[in-house]
Amino acid sequence: CGIVGYVGPRDSEGILIAGLARLEYRGYDSAGIAVIDGAGSVAMRKRAGKLSVLRDDLAAHALPGGTTGIGHTRWATHGGPTDANAHPHLADDDRLAVIHNGIIENFAELKVELVSEGYDFLSETDTEVAAVLLGREYRANGGDLVEAFRSTASRLDGAFTLLAMHEEHPGLVVGARRNSPLVIGLGEGENFLGSDVAAFVEHTRKALAIGQDEIVAITPAGVEVTDFDGAAVDVEPFEVLWDA
Ligand code: GLU
Repeated sequence: CGIVGYVGPRDSEGILIAGLARLEYRGYDSAGIAVIDGAGSVAMRKRAGKLSVLRDDLAAHALPGGTTGIGHTRWATHGGPTDANAHPHLADDDRLAVIHNGIIENFAELKVELVSEGYDFLSETDTEVAAVLLGREYRANGGDLVEAFRSTASRLDGAFTLLAMHEEHPGLVVGARRNSPLVIGLGEGENFLGSDVAAFVEHTRKALAIGQDEIVAITPAGVEVTDFDGAAVDVEPFEVLWDA
């Protein structure tokens, strides 16, 4: 339902939680974040319920700090609102974290295929199927996350904004979208992704809207947008005018 991503020099947890709070108006039933911590591992926390449940959990048991992170508020469509079904979902031996807005229509067929190959699932969501598929494609192509998004997107039917980060690429968040929105926020030495500009408007007013069937890779140094065939896409920045 709500999506936020961050790469840059700052600790991401507070930025992710504040972004999710700004997206609360959309409604949701669960919330979660993942960061790539100082040791270079994915650290994740997710809870059913209000953002305050996640906040209290983080206050009681701190997550290691990390400057790359993704955050999600979920409005359940496949699988009830439980901790296990909340996003992020992990794949590739917990080295890859994925969040998703929308519905993967053909998740059941894909899940049968992946289960027959020996993959395990910890949730009832359509999202975890996309995460496991992304992990499989990533390993198959030798560790190119953008390329893995391309081959994964070509197998998915339905609506998705997907964001992922892998601990082998500590300063990178990759996103893709079809029939569901995704916006880049351009900062100075830092960049943001959001399901809408509310996710990052307190940090930057400079935004780029990602078009249909496009993939974006953000690092602290810049952003790169390509289509699902790998061709570069030109995107025009716009100024966010409304008050934060
Ligand atoms: N279909 C996904 C799920 O049920 C994502 C729902 C959403 O957009 O929040 O987990």
